[in-house]
Amino acid sequence: MKIHEIGEFGLIARLTSGMETGGGVVKGIGDDAAVLDSGEFLLLFTTDAVVEGVHFDRRYITVEDIGYKSMAVNISDIAAMGGKPTYAVVTVGLPDDFDVEDADAMYRGLRQVAANYGVVVVGGDITSAPVLIVNVALLGETAPDGVRYRSGAQPGDIICVTGSLGGSAGGLFLQGNEEFPCPEPLRDLLLKKHRRPEPRVAAGMVLGGLSGVHGLIDISDGLASDINHIALASGVGCHIYKAAVPVEPAAELVARRAGKDPVDWALYGGEDYELLFTVAPGAMGEISAALLACGADCRPVGRVLDGEGVWLVLAEGSLTALTGGYQHFSSAGGKDRGSRP
Ligand SMILES: [Mg+2]
Repeated sequence: MKIHEIGEFGLIARLTSGMETGGGVVKGIGDDAAVLDSGEFLLLFTTDAVVEGVHFDRRYITVEDIGYKSMAVNISDIAAMGGKPTYAVVTVGLPDDFDVEDADAMYRGLRQVAANYGVVVVGGDITSAPVLIVNVALLGETAPDGVRYRSGAQPGDIICVTGSLGGSAGGLFLQGNEEFPCPEPLRDLLLKKHRRPEPRVAAGMVLGGLSGVHGLIDISDGLASDINHIALASGVGCHIYKAAVPVEPAAELVARRAGKDPVDWALYGGEDYELLFTVAPGAMGEISAALLACGADCRPVGRVLDGEGVWLVLAEGSLTALTGGYQHFSSAGGKDRGSRP
């Protein structure tokens, strides 16, 4: 059997079935980060690799941005647990003819975002490789009651997102269509959203501190895919209201000019690294006020239901199944996003 026949998630299930937990393992495989009991606080542990030709194409993205993004996506996974990122180790694979100045630039980007979010790089490894590979492993921490899981959603919860979606997809579109007419400030804004996402660490820590917040994940694969992760892990169904999905205004403009559906970018584009979470209805006021105080919006986009399945509710009230998102090795479920880190 070939890997593409079972896909990324099938392979993970196969490799990890029967893997031991227990001891200090509070939550093992299956969320944005592992959760480990370290006594007075919980330790979070995550890792993510980016590979040239799979996640990015160096014709379109600078090595400095690759360094930035490889660290930023790991920080986002700690935010997705409600945690504060702390220490990282970084492994890079480099072709023999890679320029030293490019290695400098890559680390400049990586160190910049690490410093912005209080992450200290404490070690790593360098190896020769046929293409550029960057792998970050990152620790974080939360108070014992400050962690949130994908599996926490409860029927009746309101589904919310921070910020707006589709900006990264807009940047990816502009990156691949350099001649597309677009005002320079909008182009810069969308390219930055794609290349230098700002992980929602402050918002994640706020959400972890509020008991009315139940389920939590970051939007890496796209709202459509990531709400399915919450639904599956929580054993619930979800309705997402198409008209309520907050589309990044600059992306909406570009999508309309390009004849694309902006909501598709927001639902399926991915890589916005906003937070997606579910909230007890009575706690909405408190939660949106707390998020506003740390500079993040709280946008209700749907509702958690009894049962199973995720549905997009169209303006006239009809339902369509909401599936999709990126999956490695998959010929059926995956889609090629060109320069996806
Ligand atoms: Mg994630």
